[in-house]
Amino acid sequence: MYARALSRLKRNPQLFIITMMGVFGVLGITPYIIYRAYHANFLVAIADLFAVISIIIAVIYAWRTNDTAKPGLYLSVIFSVVATLVTINLGINGFFWIYPLILFNFFIIPPSRALVTMLVVLASLVIYNLYKPESIFSSHYQMVSFLVTCLLASFLSFIFAYRTQHQHARLEQLAAHDHLTGAYNRRVMTEELRKAARERRSGRNYGLLILDIDHFKRINDAFGHSVGDQVLMDFTTITKSVIRESDILFRHGGEEFALLLPDTNLKGLHTVASTIQKTIFSKLTSPAGPVSVSIGGAILSENDQWEDWINRADEQLYAAKAMGRNCYKIAV
Ligand code: GH3
Ligand code: MG
Ligand code: MG
Repeated sequence: MYARALSRLKRNPQLFIITMMGVFGVLGITPYIIYRAYHANFLVAIADLFAVISIIIAVIYAWRTNDTAKPGLYLSVIFSVVATLVTINLGINGFFWIYPLILFNFFIIPPSRALVTMLVVLASLVIYNLYKPESIFSSHYQMVSFLVTCLLASFLSFIFAYRTQHQHARLEQLAAHDHLTGAYNRRVMTEELRKAARERRSGRNYGLLILDIDHFKRINDAFGHSVGDQVLMDFTTITKSVIRESDILFRHGGEEFALLLPDTNLKGLHTVASTIQKTIFSKLTSPAGPVSVSIGGAILSENDQWEDWINRADEQLYAAKAMGRNCYKIAV
């Protein structure tokens, strides 16, 4: 169990930071609950207790659901409020807490939100000090130094976080798509089919089509690989133009594609297969003339594993090829 928890922390840096800051928050705030209660300051003690309990709930939520976005945002708000109050109370001795807060916020919430949060924290401190002069900052010089260093640290963190976010999105895009056609790749297909098989148990309907371009090898052999590549790209564009936004197209192999159709019944699957087969034959061309596609399809049944499902669709594709190609067959 410990080994599993450790490997989750290694794989998910957000979860690691949330857990670490959660432990830090609980250990840091709990002594104050006792201290305030001891001095009969029950209102503040209850507020601190509320903060500790909600931090624990946020950490448990992150571990249970693997969602770090919501608990991250929540902890960011709690820590920002606590750091602001501590700074108001302690003056210069509280300043130092703002710097780790900057790092935490930029690490755990989206960069633009973190920037807004930090501006709100700094503005609150300055406004409070204007309202009660010298309560936080002992001089204008000190206030300006503090503001400039915090703004600089926030700005540098923003650039860093923004760049990281951008690279992350780019990596995800590269890891999920086939680079020739832009369709999703086989890895994402496996994940999505598995997810569909899980959701089928809660009542959602799914259809699957396997599409294989007919005599594609002849195009390659006669006109070269780059003409073949162009046909694959055109095939993807034409197919995408006739499917719904929620349907997902994958490149399953060389000239073979899979199409996952959520909320689709047998009748709907027939309609889509027929539309794609006709549209491809009328619009997709190579230097040798029109290009056709053969399609096999199956509806996901209740007790299907995703492998059974794709095998049934594949059998129908072979049947369509055997029937002479340029047609579709759906399992009943
Ligand atoms: P069938 O009608 O039975 O499907 O015949 P086919 O010629 O389409 O099928 P076959 O499996 O014999 O040939 C598929 C060809 O697709 C062979 C392979 O060289 C080619 N291929 C696979 N990936 C790519 C690619 O990325 N680009 C190009 N241009 N060709 C590819
Ligand atoms: Mg083929
Ligand atoms: Mg093939």
